[in-house]
Amino acid sequence: MSRDYTQKRDFSKTPEPEAGRGAQGDAPIFVIHKHDASSLHYDFRINVGGALKSWAIPKGPSTDPRDKRLALPTEDHPRDYADFEGVIPQGEYGAGTVLVWDRGTWENITRKDDGLVPAEEALKQGHLLMHLKGEKLSGGYALQRTDTGDDEKWLLVKMDDDAADARRNPVSTQPESVISGRTIAQVRREEGGDADDAS
Ligand code: MN
Repeated sequence: MSRDYTQKRDFSKTPEPEAGRGAQGDAPIFVIHKHDASSLHYDFRINVGGALKSWAIPKGPSTDPRDKRLALPTEDHPRDYADFEGVIPQGEYGAGTVLVWDRGTWENITRKDDGLVPAEEALKQGHLLMHLKGEKLSGGYALQRTDTGDDEKWLLVKMDDDAADARRNPVSTQPESVISGRTIAQVRREEGGDADDAS
């Protein structure tokens, strides 16, 4: 399940958690990591079947239903990763600074013929509807696959509901961590080593 995650990382060098070394569980959580790596992006992760299914969103999520945000699938992450915040050292996979930009619970609301489509099935079919209860994001969001194969692409789109708000732009107005209140620069300063300061 998380083999790619483990293979890509040297846990003697990165502060990221090893899979299976912490709390386990299937609580339906979601988390969005802000990740200032070679290019800044937001990693959107939802807990499905014990792992965190993950997409990298270059522009971050929007609260405006007219915005279609490109979401590129990345490797499953272990559930323990949800609270990770820190600096991944230079030379390691994903090198850069990570903070928890939003987190909360999510509910699968994908329906077909009056029945709920299981999340795993919805992801296979390339269409998942979610109800998020986060600190910054809430309400319905759709994940829609638009390309398959080596060039797999998805779009993350806010559903048009009470939580939709074209005037909000939380990616720019609420840049800080929801667990520590820190910005990327603060996390880098407080947790980055000398090697990171040189970059
Ligand atoms: Mn990332």
